[in-house]
Amino acid sequence: MALVSFKNTILHNLVSKPKTRKVEKEYPVGTRGHVENDMDVCVLCGLCSIKCPTHAITVDKAEKTWSIRPMSCIQCRCCVDNCPKKCLSMGLRFQEPGSEKLTKTFKQSEKAIAAQEALMKAAKERAAAAAAAKAAQAAQAGGAAPAAPAANANPAPAAPAANQDNK
Ligand code: SF4
Ligand code: SF4
Repeated sequence: MALVSFKNTILHNLVSKPKTRKVEKEYPVGTRGHVENDMDVCVLCGLCSIKCPTHAITVDKAEKTWSIRPMSCIQCRCCVDNCPKKCLSMGLRFQEPGSEKLTKTFKQSEKAIAAQEALMKAAKERAAAAAAAKAAQAAQAGGAAPAAPAANANPAPAAPAANQDNK
């Protein structure tokens, strides 16, 4: 009798829908899963590292790397909101659990390095042009001052000379 009942349960489970539901794969808008950095845009200014309350971010300008310790991150979004280049964002996927406190390191891309070098070169050229213009202005101002007395000095001796000729 019990065997018949068991068979009925098996048959019922084979044809019926699952009693459980799948985990939702869509994250709600605004989910703060984990921090992502677009290394094509990051200029390694270090502001995110300064603003992070848990010191989860490290920036090494010499090595051109940006690092984050995901397990120290509390998903406060402070780094994202303060990044001047807007290259940080909160990815939807949550940080996977693990037994070790990893540090994830990302190298600045060649594209970003080239863009940054071009910006620095342009800034240096602008500064040099401004300094040259200032120097030229100063030289012009300095040259104009002595020229005025020289022009005034010439007529003074000319007058007595003319008088001498008349005598
Ligand atoms: S992620 Fe943004 S704030 Fe952080 S170093 Fe890069 S540019 Fe600067
Ligand atoms: S989200 Fe908050 S805790 Fe996480 S790295 Fe950014 S500033 Fe630090």
